Amino acid sequence: MGFHMTWFKREDGEYPAPENGPQGENGPDTGFAAGASAKTVRTEGLWVKCPGCRQPLYKADLEASLMVCSKCQHHFKLGARARIDLLLEPGYELVDTGLRSTDPLNFTDVKPYKQRLRKARELTGLDDAILNALGRIGAHEVVLSAMEYGFIGGSMGAVVGETIARAVDRARLTRKPLVIVAASGGARMMEGVVSLLQMAKIATALAQLDDARVPYISVLTDPTTGGVTASFAMLGDLNIAEPGALIGFAGPRVIEQTIRQKLPESFQRAEFLLEKGFLDAVVHRRDLKAYLIRALEFLKAPAAQRVSELTS
Ligand SMILES: [Zn+2]
Repeated sequence: MGFHMTWFKREDGEYPAPENGPQGENGPDTGFAAGASAKTVRTEGLWVKCPGCRQPLYKADLEASLMVCSKCQHHFKLGARARIDLLLEPGYELVDTGLRSTDPLNFTDVKPYKQRLRKARELTGLDDAILNALGRIGAHEVVLSAMEYGFIGGSMGAVVGETIARAVDRARLTRKPLVIVAASGGARMMEGVVSLLQMAKIATALAQLDDARVPYISVLTDPTTGGVTASFAMLGDLNIAEPGALIGFAGPRVIEQTIRQKLPESFQRAEFLLEKGFLDAVVHRRDLKAYLIRALEFLKAPAAQRVSELTS
């Protein structure tokens, strides 16, 4: 059986019900565990089962611990709005809102893309899988862009691409550091090549940001895969990730089936990538804001001071 078959055949049933429809280009191969858990968290019960350690967790405790399991430190997915609330001081401003996909291909798979968009908007209260905000992290004014996995798997179509490009341009024009929190299954298949064009658009904007010497910190959360990894998530001046995040281009199963070899358990997890030098740090969610404040201070300091900090 070739690997094309297995795209469609799932034996373990561990993927979330397809109420969000197909996700990014890596489809159901990525982010399944926490995807299911994110769904569970939305239900009315007082308890949720941790996908990491299978222990029951009291919802209120889980929320108090920033959606991190107190027993095994599994990091549940965080929506875009919750992420902004976690990182920015109160009083931030949401910007670049109101963009909506035009469904350029008039695309239908098992259901029309327009219908999926409507459902995703209802589910998340967002127009697409991204939110841009202006605000402060500690004392540092930043442009923050946060992705929403709950919106068609955080997939990147024209709206996500344009919104991120606007955040990058905003950072360049105002000379405020840029922070992007990625959570994405990859390019949005329902917008075909239009999705792929976003990769080039964002990469170009980031090159201009780099030329203008405005810092960019990329925060990779579970999962960050496909065209998002390939275009902007690994291009930060600092690339940091939350513990256990799945990060890669193709999903591990696709790779296993292609090379016909078993991959190590930790393959494509944040810690493995850190060990191999692809990430600068893996940072627990409770420490993320403090880490960003230190990093922003460091990036803002004149080069001479940075050298003395590094060598002292
Ligand atoms: Zn746990």
